[in-house]
Parts: sequence; structure tokens; C-alpha cells
Amino acid sequence: MYSRTFNIPASPATIFRLTVCSFLLSSSIALGADADRFAGVEVKAQPLGGNVYMLVGSGGNIGVSVGEDGTLIIDDQFAPLAERIQKAIDKLGGDKPKLVLNTHFHGDHTGSNAFFGEAGTIIAHENVRIRLAGDSNVGRAALPVVTYADRIRIHFNDDELDVIHMPAGHTDGDAVVWFKNANVIHMGDHFFNGSFPYIDIPSGGSVAGVIANLDRILEMIPEDIHIIPGHGPLAKVANLSESLDMLRATHKQVNEALDAGKNVEEIIAAGLGSRWEGWGAGFINEERWIRILHSDRKAP
Ligand SMILES: [Zn+2]
Repeated sequence: MYSRTFNIPASPATIFRLTVCSFLLSSSIALGADADRFAGVEVKAQPLGGNVYMLVGSGGNIGVSVGEDGTLIIDDQFAPLAERIQKAIDKLGGDKPKLVLNTHFHGDHTGSNAFFGEAGTIIAHENVRIRLAGDSNVGRAALPVVTYADRIRIHFNDDELDVIHMPAGHTDGDAVVWFKNANVIHMGDHFFNGSFPYIDIPSGGSVAGVIANLDRILEMIPEDIHIIPGHGPLAKVANLSESLDMLRATHKQVNEALDAGKNVEEIIAAGLGSRWEGWGAGFINEERWIRILHSDRKAP
């Protein structure tokens, strides 16, 4: 169980870092502490042009489309934030989301599914439904109703949204959502802008898979697209390319050290070098990133 490999943290900030992207932790650790943990969180909107917005609160960034056909959201953070998310949508002139897309199953992206699933239709990759349905803490209203194997196209608010499955990436059920007309792509957790990513190897994720998927996406998208990362600030293609460079370089570096007979503790002690200093300031510090690279190597 990957969650057990994490040390139980002491400070709320650390708790947040460790629970982000870990569905098991976010659904089972100290629900009573959630009220405090989210007390100061405000959900704020950033316009991306047309009728598309990014909402930032706590957890995965949310994509929103508001228009004549109604409201659509991509991901919905944690359950205690559901009403604040709805208020932020109301301020944009939206209403209860008709469609709710999940980029993957982690609790910091699907935590408000039960709230939004009462009135809206949840859409996700089939593995997202399987993983959520397998969790006894997740009720029926939180489950995706429409699932797909490879991709689905949604026609909404005068836009075409291509929802494209990215196999064996951050998990085994990730998708990116591309608004063709608004020229926006929501990357889910294939992209942590400016920081080392969490890659969920026990849930079918793969570092090489993320690298291959990012190569594919970068070939697909136009140079001037707005990019909503799973975590971190709004991005451009250059930021995504930089993140891919980091993945490729650190993946190679750690694998070469392992090939040379170094163990993971020795690699951690040596560090990844000054080039990636600062990338460990987010949810995943350098040590944890090296451990992810190491566990990826051991994965079947
Ligand atoms: Zn995640």
C-alpha cells in the first residue's frame, strides 16, 4: 500500500503535501481535521478567454466552462470545498454543473463528486470508475456514469472538447481535456507546473508512460495554447516542455545510477544536482521524487 510508505507527518502543511494526490490518505486520514485544513481556502477563478476558467483552491486545479448549454467542470478538489467551488461558479454566471469530468481518480480531484454528481453527470475513463467503485468510502453519487476506453468528444458551449485517455501515466485512468475552440488544455496530473510530480506507480502509473504521453501531447497541441496543470500556476507550452525535460533527465540520471549499482539511499544522499533545485519545493520533495523513480523501476 503506497500510502503506508509515507511517514505520518506532523505539520498541517506536510499533511497537505502528503495527502494531495493520494486518494487513500485523503479519504481516510482525520476527516475531523478537514474543517481546519480547509478553513482558510478560497476558491478563485482565473479567466482563460472565451467562457473557460481555471479555479484554484486546494487540490487539483479545476477547469470550468460556463455558457448557453450550462456549466461543465473538470475535477472538483476535496469534499469540504464543494460549496465554495459552486459559489465561485455562480460568480462566473454559471449554475450547477451539468457535466463533471474527472481527469483521474485521486481524492484531490474527485473529492466533491458526490456533491456535484447529485445534479450532474460524471464522465471519466473506465479505470476511474473501477477504482472509485472499489473504495467503500465512495458513494453511488460520486461514481462516473459515462465512461470511455480511449477518448470521448463533448460538444458544449460552442466548443469541442476532446477528452483523451493517457495510458499508464500518472495512474492507469488519466485523461487530458482539450477545448479546441477556446485553445485550452487541462492536463490533470500529467503536469505539475514547476515541481516534481507525484506518479502513482501502485495505481498503474509509470514514469516512462508520463514521458511518452507528454511527448504525444506536445506534438498535438498548438504553440499558443493555455495549459491548466493538475497542480501549480497556469502554464504555457514552454513550461510543459521544461517539465518534460526534467522528467527525462532525472529518470535517466536515477536509472543510470541504479545500473551502476548504487542503492536508492546513496542516490538520495548524492541528490539530483543544482539544475533541479527548486523543483522539490512543491508537494513532492527531491527525496520522494527519487523514491518514485526507484519504485517505478521496480514496478512489473
Ligand atoms: Zn493525482
